[in-house]
Amino acid sequence: MPDFAALREEMVERQLKRRGIAERALLDAFRAVPRELFVPEAARHAAYDDSPLPIEAGQTVSQPYIAALMIEAAGIGRDDSVLEIGAGSGYAAAVLGRVAGRVVAVERHGELAALARARMEALGYSNVRIVEGDGSGGLPDEAPFAAILVAASGSHVPEALLEQLGLGGVLVMPVGERDAVQRLVKVTRTGEEDYEEEDLGPVRFVPLIGREGWGDGEGAAEALPERLRAAAEPLPELDDPAFAEAFDRFADARVVLLGEASHGTSEFYRARAEISKRLIERHGFTIVAVEADWPDAASVDRHVRHRARRDGEETAFQRFPTWMWRNAEVDAFVGWLRRHNEGRGREAMTGFYGLDLYNLSGSIRAVIDFLEAADPEAAKLARKRYACLAPWSRDPAAYGRHALSEGYGRCEAGAVQMLRDLLQRRMDCLAEECDEWLDAAANARLVRNAEQYYRVMYQGAAESWNLRDTHMFETLCQLLDAKGPASKAIVWAHNSHIGNAAHTEMGQVREELNVGQLAKERFGDAARLIGFGTHGGTVAAADDWDAPMEVKLVRPSLAGSYERLCHETGIARFLLDLRPGALDPALEEALLEPRLERFIGVIYRPETERWSHYAEAVLPNQFDAWAWFDETRAVTPLPGGPPAGAEEETYPFGL
Ligand code: SAM
Repeated sequence: MPDFAALREEMVERQLKRRGIAERALLDAFRAVPRELFVPEAARHAAYDDSPLPIEAGQTVSQPYIAALMIEAAGIGRDDSVLEIGAGSGYAAAVLGRVAGRVVAVERHGELAALARARMEALGYSNVRIVEGDGSGGLPDEAPFAAILVAASGSHVPEALLEQLGLGGVLVMPVGERDAVQRLVKVTRTGEEDYEEEDLGPVRFVPLIGREGWGDGEGAAEALPERLRAAAEPLPELDDPAFAEAFDRFADARVVLLGEASHGTSEFYRARAEISKRLIERHGFTIVAVEADWPDAASVDRHVRHRARRDGEETAFQRFPTWMWRNAEVDAFVGWLRRHNEGRGREAMTGFYGLDLYNLSGSIRAVIDFLEAADPEAAKLARKRYACLAPWSRDPAAYGRHALSEGYGRCEAGAVQMLRDLLQRRMDCLAEECDEWLDAAANARLVRNAEQYYRVMYQGAAESWNLRDTHMFETLCQLLDAKGPASKAIVWAHNSHIGNAAHTEMGQVREELNVGQLAKERFGDAARLIGFGTHGGTVAAADDWDAPMEVKLVRPSLAGSYERLCHETGIARFLLDLRPGALDPALEEALLEPRLERFIGVIYRPETERWSHYAEAVLPNQFDAWAWFDETRAVTPLPGGPPAGAEEETYPFGL
């Protein structure tokens, strides 16, 4: 059982105070309301996450910070009468009950209203009343209100609500398109007919449905799978050349990012391999950059580009989650790349690179090894500078905890200086040596960023996520720069890294960015983001971090998700082109309605799937295309660890 009181305190500190919520009474109210009692049982473990959570009736309880922002903006006093529209779970109403005199909260779903009412009773709130009904027109009989908080979005602020504000009263409401990001607006009644409006920033809310809000939209649902079936382009078997050919339309891009909806699905790896082969063979792509650690991918790269192995080099991908790259599917692609590169000049070869930053010890060793050969004096200095991190390199998370308790990053300066020194060496970089330099510089950058990553990991999920994705994107740019203006790259990473975060819950609610978003910002249409999805089958994943890999059954996709919609087309494999103008407007509009999307990582917990693995997204804004595989199976892992000094032909997986 988690220590909810401690989590609540941490939530107030990290999510509210650090973001500028300062009002003491409000912070105390958030300290007092047990959020875990306002969410369904299965979501309790996530009750204090920095995000909205799904509740009954397909609705959500808002992110704590957004609820706090709205309440603080309303400037509520102890005797004030407050109207909330969209009571949902009743959580925000309970917080309001602690800072206001009287609260009336309206909820259109009877099921939610009943639950919220029962919670108020159980927790002893006598000043909070839950009313079932359409609140979009307010409660004129109970007006005026000192504050009206609307927890659902409309195209405009209903006139009727403004009229129910007392003089000096404040209304806070998300306003904008129902299927896009909205603006949170604060309207203050300054006179009988006068109102002042202020913009509090972007948010994303479920729609306000009712007389003064949006229509219900029911009825259109049945036709949707049919319309999707008409737009979907069926794909043949993976080994049919027509499969990869279907992706030629994206080949004029500078960067093609290929996603995956899990880290252990064979079809996703094989499909990406087939598409990549075609982009390499026919369209001039020479960089394959994957969501793997740089030093590990570097040994694969040496293998595929027929370069010498480094002395004492470790076998690639030995650490959890080994199956993510040590699998038969990747092995087959690596073998193809090596054969493809055979006999080609250095410029024409295609390299294999890792964008991720987890192998700190491997990177430290690689920088030192490079300098050992290039400049032994500098190698001594490198050893000294990295000595600070050395004790932690096998368990860098422990460094993060330690740095936090000491209050500063003791090892930062050495890592920063080392990178600076290496970057200065670029002047001496001759063509042949450049690969080695590029490798060392990437490792030095990784050490610097990883040092920071493990420190901020304890400050909040968004900070460390952003640092990691920024690192991955910078590494990609560095590769493109190093290979010149005509270079083209293919990226393999999880959908969560490549689906543009600016148009999903990640960016809009949790302030997270990702590689796909950064690529779109930098390259525009010259970056193509292709997401992958599946309905069911098996997947390779673990129960927990560092737990053994298992082949798990993937649950059939949930009703209301994009996946279920794709499944309902009845097509086994298809490509859906989502670029502007590619879909008929009615289908596009329907797909722009936010829906659940499944994200399986290296960990898969089918028993809490809804809460652990689904998040809201808007597919056409997230991706340029969506590749669908209705039924998929787990990757085939390669056996673990090889003896050191394995035979050359078994390199880099040491089998
Ligand atoms: N404040 C809530 C809480 O703390 O759990 C979260 C609110 S949720 C984001 C929005 C709620 O607004 C949903 O429960 C939805 O059913 C409700 N809603 C939408 N339109 C409504 C309307 N016209 N009248 C009342 N409630 C409405």
